Formats: sequence, structure tokens, C-alpha cells
Amino acid sequence: MNSQNFAIAENLIPSSYIQQSVNALRNRENLAKTLMEQRKWPDNGWDDASIELFLSNLALMDSNNFREHAGVGEREGRVVSNLVAKRHYHMTHGIGRSENIAEVQPNATGSSLMIKLVNAMLLESIRFMGVSSATGCFMVPIATGMSLMLCLLTLKQDRPGAKFVLWSRIDQKSCFKCIISAGLQPIIIDPVQCGDELHTDVQAIEAQLLTIGSDNIVCIMSTTSCFAPRASDSLEKIATLCQKYNVPHLINNAYGLQSTRIMHSIQDASKKGRVDVFVQSTDKNFLVPVGGAIIAGFDKNVLEKITKNYPGRASCSPVMDIFITLLSLGTNGYKELISQRKEVHQHLRNELGKIAAKYGERLLDIQNNPISIAMTLKSLSVSNGAESDTKKLSQLSSMMYMRHVTGCRVVSSVEVKDVCGYKFDGWGAHKINYPCPYITAGASIGITKSDIDFFVQKLDKVISRLKKTPISNIETPSSSEGNDSTSIRRKATIASSYRSAVNGVNSIEDGSSSTSRTSSVDNLRK
Ligand SMILES: *Cc1c(COP(=O)(O)O)cnc(C)c1O
Repeated sequence: MNSQNFAIAENLIPSSYIQQSVNALRNRENLAKTLMEQRKWPDNGWDDASIELFLSNLALMDSNNFREHAGVGEREGRVVSNLVAKRHYHMTHGIGRSENIAEVQPNATGSSLMIKLVNAMLLESIRFMGVSSATGCFMVPIATGMSLMLCLLTLKQDRPGAKFVLWSRIDQKSCFKCIISAGLQPIIIDPVQCGDELHTDVQAIEAQLLTIGSDNIVCIMSTTSCFAPRASDSLEKIATLCQKYNVPHLINNAYGLQSTRIMHSIQDASKKGRVDVFVQSTDKNFLVPVGGAIIAGFDKNVLEKITKNYPGRASCSPVMDIFITLLSLGTNGYKELISQRKEVHQHLRNELGKIAAKYGERLLDIQNNPISIAMTLKSLSVSNGAESDTKKLSQLSSMMYMRHVTGCRVVSSVEVKDVCGYKFDGWGAHKINYPCPYITAGASIGITKSDIDFFVQKLDKVISRLKKTPISNIETPSSSEGNDSTSIRRKATIASSYRSAVNGVNSIEDGSSSTSRTSSVDNLRK
């Protein structure tokens, strides 16, 4: 309603009433006015009605929603299902233009406005979380691995002869696969062990820089957020090398944005040396469905090259998820989540410490990983031959899964895995020969104390069971999914654990004979 309409309405309804309503509506409109004027993430979250009002205003600015409109092109934002249209608040044109994902889309003024506001608010989040001198960022509707690949391909364009990526090893497949999928050649640099913790092997990186030669290297790729006992990479030292040897530095900051400590380390690295781009996941840092990433950096030219490299238009659905989330949280809501996470992290440390003490284990001493924690599992590994060694560990892993605990990782430190034709010794542990098996658990944004209590309670029961169970009663030899026969065995175990769970008992707890379970494996094999 504009002021003219209100004046007309006063002919129908007493004007004092109308004035009340004018104020109420103005109040909501002012939220949008302030947001666009200041391009600033509001401190206080908006109520849902204000968000929906603004969204529907934006949607009505897109050509597909014009009352009179004829689209005669091949892409006119037509959506046949009403449910789909509603799910997207009728914004169907996506974002960007074929030449640049950051360009304003002429058919979608409202959507374009939304992405501009999202990028402004995300940049603010990056700055207040610690990277205060970041100059720009943009959201892409692809997850972290794909975004890293896009960055790698862009960095490569300026270095025609280069094909190597120096990569500080982290055992997470997508960060490795993005190098392979970009058609580049990884040089894997295992971290070094310092006490319990795994640190960047800065010397080995420098040795490779000298051997291979800067011109042949696309970039050094470091990683901040990772599973303990790996620490966040030594960003300052890597950045210093990148500057000294004139090699780009790409940081995989997948879930690092939620940690002020990690964000400050990116800031410091950019001051002391060279950081070109850092990439973070939207779902891992902002509690939205999987499907987006934020590409950020210190040099607008580099960022612009990446936006230009993005082929075609992009979905605005993940952008809208972020838009709604940021507006509804406000900076205060987000900061509250950040401080809650820290508290719960401490709670995890305390509670896991108690379990460790109870079973003669210990927490690994990790100083430079603000999110993930690890506890040794020495008493569950038996040293009579490598084969049976990890049986209880795999069993622990599936038992936790069957008890609805996800996200904890059991690492034997002896597994070998093939990823894209590269052999990783000690898969999961980020290096060869890590001295003990362990379990990791993390406290990332959105986690609650009751999540920790549930996890710890289940872990306590499961370890207690496993310690009492003779190894000969356990059938799972490995949790590897790479090898066909193992994955069949694993499926069989999960199937049999599932049946037992349905019957209210677990395969170990019920003491059923291993022969009957073996036959179910055989049946699956047939
Ligand atoms: C999650 C994660 C990735 C991959 O993220 P996707 O969003 O699934 O592509 C890469 N590296 C690290 C360290 C991660 O945690």
C-alpha cells in the first residue's frame, strides 16, 4: 500500500484506524529500507512475516511474475507445479548471466537484489568473525568441493604451464577430488606429528616449491577445519612461502567460518603473506540445507575472474535459504549460536574426558583444532595380527551408527585407501603410521549439550560391551567401502545389526552364534 492508497482507504475506514495500520506497515517496510540503505546484516532478526513480505515484493519484481508479460525465449522462468513455485517464493529465474554469475539478471531484478544483499551480509559475517580485511565474497549454489574446483581452474588460467597443486594432506575425499577433477596433479604432503597433534610440514612444502618450481605450481592448498588430531594448517607460514615463491594460496575453510580463532588465523596469514581465496560451506556454517559455498578473498580482481569463470546462470534457491536465515537470525542470533558452540565444545571435552578416564584411554592433546576432539581407543585394538586388530573398531563404528549417533569417526590408523588412483596409507588419520587408533567427535554450530550427552551415553555403553566381548565373537573385519567383498560384509553387518535392533537386541549383546550371522553374509553374497 502506498500513501495514495491509504488516503483512499480513509474514505472507507476512520482515518485514526488507518494511521495505526500505516505505522504498522511502515515499520516492516523500514526494515527493508534500512537493509538496502546500509547493506548491513541487521543486528536483530526479523520476524517471519516481514521476511515473507519482503520476499514476495522481490519476487513480484521478476519478469515471470509480471501481471502482463509474454516470454518468447527458451528460458522464461515458467514453473508448472504450484508446489515448486511456492517452495521458491515464485523466484524462478536464478541468478547471474551467462557471462558472469555476479551480473544483474535483467529478467530477475528482485532475485538480483536478493543476491547482492546476501553477498553484503556474508561479507560482514566474514569480517566480524575475524577476517576483517576481506574485500569481497560471493555465494555460489555449489558445495565446497565444486567451489574449490572452480577456484583451482581459475587460478590455473593465469599460470598456463602449471599443473601441480601442493596439498597439505587431509583425509576428506572431496578436498582431494577437487584437484583431480580440475585435471590437476596433486603433490600430497603428509603432516608431521608434534606430540599428539598433526602439523603442516612447512619444510616439505618449501622443498617441493624448490624442486618443482613456482611456475609449474597452480597453488598451495591449505585446510583449516578438519578432524583431530590434524590441526588447522599453519596458514601464516604457508602464506609466507606463497609470497616468497610467488605462488597462489587457496584455503579450504569448509567449516572454519564458525570459528573466530580460525578466521583470525586467515586474517593474520593475509597480513604476513599471501592468501588469494578462501572457501567455506554455507550449510556447515549457517545451518541451511547442503548446496552452497562462499568464495571470499582480498583481491577483487581474483574474485571477479572466478565469477566470470562460472559457466551460465545459477540456482538462487540456496541463496534464498541463506537470505532467509541471515534475516531471521540477525547478527545477534548468529553470535549467540557461535558462543553456544564454544560452550558445548567445552562440554564435549569434559564428558569425553570422563569416558576416557573410565576406560583407561585419554583425550589426544590437540591445541590447534577448535572444533574436533579425539580420544584414543587403544584398549579396543588387539595386537594379534593386523587383520583382527581393527575388528572391534569397525564394530564400534557400526554400533554407534545403529544407535543413531552420526558424525563420530573411528580411525584405526592402519587402513589403506585408494582415492582416485592415489594410495593413502593410514587413511582417516591424515598420515601414515599414526601411533594409535582413536575416535573423533566434533562440536560444530547448532550442536546442543543434549547431543553430547546422548553421544557420550551411547559411547559409554558400546565401549563397555565391546571390552567384554571376545574378539572371536565379532565378525566385521573392516569398514572400508573401497573393496567389494568388504563392502558386502559391511552391508551384511549393518543388515544383521538392523534386524537385531528391530528385535530390540544387538548382534553382540544377544550373544547369538557367529555361524548364524555368517550364513546371512553368505546369503547376501549369493
Ligand atoms: C565438507 C568438506 C569438504 C567438502 O564439502 P562439500 O560441501 O561436500 O563439497 C571439503 N573439505 C573439508 C575439510 C570439508 O569439511
